[in-house]
Amino acid sequence: MAFDPGEWARAHPQSSLRLRAPLAPLTTMGVGGPARILAEAGNEEDLRELLALSQTQKWPLFPLGGGSNVVFGDQGFPGLVVRLGAGFAKMTVTGSTLLAGAATLTSSALKLAQSQGLSGLEPLVGLPGSLGGAVSHNAGGRLGDIGQVVNRLRIMLLDGTIRDIPKADLRFAYRKAQLSLEPGVILAVELTLRPESKEIIEARLAESRALRANQPGGRSAGCVFKNPLQPPNLSEADPTWGLRAGELVSAGRLIDLCGLRGRRLGGAQISPQHANFIVNQGGARATEVLALLDEAQRAVRRRFGLELEPEIARPAVPGGGDD
Ligand SMILES: Cc1cc2nc3c(=O)[nH]c(=O)nc-3n(C[C@H](O)[C@H](O)[C@H](O)COP(=O)(O)OP(=O)(O)OC[C@H]3O[C@@H](n4cnc5c(N)ncnc54)[C@H](O)[C@@H]3O)c2cc1C
Repeated sequence: MAFDPGEWARAHPQSSLRLRAPLAPLTTMGVGGPARILAEAGNEEDLRELLALSQTQKWPLFPLGGGSNVVFGDQGFPGLVVRLGAGFAKMTVTGSTLLAGAATLTSSALKLAQSQGLSGLEPLVGLPGSLGGAVSHNAGGRLGDIGQVVNRLRIMLLDGTIRDIPKADLRFAYRKAQLSLEPGVILAVELTLRPESKEIIEARLAESRALRANQPGGRSAGCVFKNPLQPPNLSEADPTWGLRAGELVSAGRLIDLCGLRGRRLGGAQISPQHANFIVNQGGARATEVLALLDEAQRAVRRRFGLELEPEIARPAVPGGGDD
């Protein structure tokens, strides 16, 4: 049966749904075309219906949080982009447990934890985006990542079933998470934090902020690539690079060594400040951002024989496109 968006919206007053809705304003990079359908689910029941629609209409699904780690192609997304509304952004603290909806801003969770004298989220200071987005790929920094404090997740699977997944069944690795055997939308996150003095929390926040001080401002999607695990022969080849065998090598340093720091294509630029960031200097197109990403990846492969794995999400356009 043909889908009638007006009828759906009238029947679900707590949610919203738009056709051909621009995605660029919903991302920190600010590039990309429209979503075929953009929906904001106001509650679990509406989300369940949206997931069912995506199945019956065969629309690819993409859950979107704060859009700070994603680059949509210029053709947009040919399916359903679903966001979680304010109903999924509630937080409660019980003892040292913080339970938060997945749409909660990571910064709000950190602020609440800090006000309650709870430590554990400091490595995430300064990160834009939502807890759902942070958990989905284990966001963090040099001082730690969110997976270390996640105790339980609530996920809605594509068939509408809700699963509470305990820590023992979650697998977190460097910017990677295996949250469930089946895809779904994270609804809520339970974090186990530690009581700590105000001074120690402040000191950890300051240390974490200092480690991020070299990140460029402006419009970006954070680090473009994960730092690769360096094969041992590199440092032997040229010890002056300061690269050590068996350690994570800075992807930005490798891109820099390829001479690409500051490289510009249209409105997109490999940041002169930190070569693992691509910045939208104004009016950039996704094609330009992604062409710079490809160029950096190719250059590092050619020079170092290393495969840089993108950290940013690039929602796939079935059948090709500019991704
Ligand atoms: C200036 C800047 C600095 C940054 N620094 C860092 C850093 O130091 N460390 C770091 O790890 N990241 C960093 N980032 C990247 C980003 O901010 C984080 O990864 C953030 O946690 C992503 O959250 P989000 O809500 O914006 O996710 P989005 O960008 O909206 O989505 C990211 C991924 O999560 C999925 N997702 C989002 N919500 C859900 C949900 N409810 N259920 C299932 N899947 C979901 C999406 O489908 C997508 O695959 C930075 C970004 C910027 C712009």
